[in-house]
Amino acid sequence: MWVLVGVLVSVGVTARLVGAAGPATGLHEDLQERFDRAAAAATREGVELVVTSGFRTATEQEALIEEAIRTYGSEQEARRWVMPTDRSAHVTGTAIDVGPASGAAWLGERGAEFGLCRVYDYEPWHFEPLTDPGSTCPATYPDVSHTWD
Ligand SMILES: [Zn+2]
Repeated sequence: MWVLVGVLVSVGVTARLVGAAGPATGLHEDLQERFDRAAAAATREGVELVVTSGFRTATEQEALIEEAIRTYGSEQEARRWVMPTDRSAHVTGTAIDVGPASGAAWLGERGAEFGLCRVYDYEPWHFEPLTDPGSTCPATYPDVSHTWD
């Protein structure tokens, strides 16, 4: 019993630290509040939920595009998986990637409650504040190719 309490307490501390500073810095204030509420609820249910990637600079997004072109072999194929710099919600501070996988799965099921929605079928860890808390999330996209048009 005491071991379980210790685990829950340390998970709670992790969620608070990540919410207060660290990877989440630079997030839009409203998104930060929604995530903090979701992380608190997850912690109460014994689920670890942390931000693994939040705000990105345009330079960091450019680097991801370059990396994707190397990985996928062509700019055309890379465009299915990485957004242009001026369209990425990470660059405007309005997107978060969360972890670990169990935390992302929890938020995938419960996100609408906090106004946090999955956006892309292939990214179960990526969330954006696309609906009012307690409302319904829009349908997901198969990839990001539409954002280059
Ligand atoms: Zn993302």
